Amino acid sequence: MKLHEYQAKEIFRKSGIPTPNGELVTEVDQTTKAIQNVKGPPWVVKAQVHAGGRGKGGGVQLAHSPDQVVSSVQSMLGKPLVTKQTGPGGVIMHQVLIEEGIDIDREFYLSMIIDRAVAMPAMIFSQAGGMEIEEVASRSPELILKEHADPATGWMPYQGRKLVYKLDSPLSPEASRALMAIMANVVKLFMSHDCSLLEINPLVTTMDGKVVALDAKLNIDDNSLYRHKELHALDDPREKEPLEVEAEKYDINYIRLDGNIGAMVNGAGLAMATMDVIKLAGAEPANFLDVGGGASQEMVTKGIEIILKDPRVKAILINIFGGILRCDVLARGLLEAAKHTEIRAPLIVRLEGTNVEEGREILRNSGLKFLVAKDLAEAAELVAKQVS
Ligand code: GDP
Ligand code: MN
Repeated sequence: MKLHEYQAKEIFRKSGIPTPNGELVTEVDQTTKAIQNVKGPPWVVKAQVHAGGRGKGGGVQLAHSPDQVVSSVQSMLGKPLVTKQTGPGGVIMHQVLIEEGIDIDREFYLSMIIDRAVAMPAMIFSQAGGMEIEEVASRSPELILKEHADPATGWMPYQGRKLVYKLDSPLSPEASRALMAIMANVVKLFMSHDCSLLEINPLVTTMDGKVVALDAKLNIDDNSLYRHKELHALDDPREKEPLEVEAEKYDINYIRLDGNIGAMVNGAGLAMATMDVIKLAGAEPANFLDVGGGASQEMVTKGIEIILKDPRVKAILINIFGGILRCDVLARGLLEAAKHTEIRAPLIVRLEGTNVEEGREILRNSGLKFLVAKDLAEAAELVAKQVS
């Protein structure tokens, strides 16, 4: 689950990570009142969308007077923001954060991620802040420092010193201490909230010697949400792919991708393998869809309907290994979908496992048009042929 910057910053403040003060507005006429509670000029007006690169796209604007704040808010609310991460259509700006403008001295990069190679959270720190970290990583990898937080021992003070003392030009003792305290608090927050990503870019030192998180990105591991009930209210479905929101309602694991081959599979591993084989056959998957091992007929029906709602889908590969989900249940789910939705794309079916004969029989007698593949490789080739 992704959080908005203003939500992340609220959590930061509670966790001992200083941020600028700010107020959220969702309507233009809230602006004048909001400014009264926020120090300025200057003010910074920031679009609250789940996409980075807002600065370059016009989603972060500096305003030097209350009138400028109002016109910035006006230029954002309800309008699309296009950044490198949004795609050409952009995303609608529903909310805007008005913050006190900070007088920046230096910009740093600080984040924490899960480093799967060593199965530990890793802190990433760089003196090249404010820029895209991917660019820094490819151009000057020596500027990116990494330190693991071993869950067995916790974050050690020497680790913070190791990172801070590697700076080319040293910070004041106060700023160094503040930065190391922030690092320790980042680890605590990351662990206690089951984060999958925490990113501060830029983390700045101010002209008066303070260290402040100017930006904030926080992602929570969905699998842990059951033990963070207080975070559920922070979910913003407006920011998500509508088809993914619909799939969530039925407990279907669906992720929309860029290709044109719809895929319905039971089991995440088999779904990944199916996507690989589609690519191997020279085509591109339109989605990842795992109906799950214990899928019901209704989930199969909904799965097919969701795939078909994606206008890019030109052919569908159904790859089911009948175990707990029996092949006859799959077949009935398909027929049910065909009753409500026009199956407008060729179907390629590969069924194997429990009740496979019964499943095939149901499909044969259904009047539905589909191609049967004897194995996964043939299925992928058949499906790729439909779109080539
Ligand atoms: P992003 O582009 O979506 O990552 O948005 P950021 O929150 O990182 O803002 C983009 C850039 O705007 C930052 O890297 C800063 O250079 C600048 N910026 C943001 N807030 C302030 C501020 O309070 N004062 C100043 N001087 N610059 C700011
Ligand atoms: Mn940023």
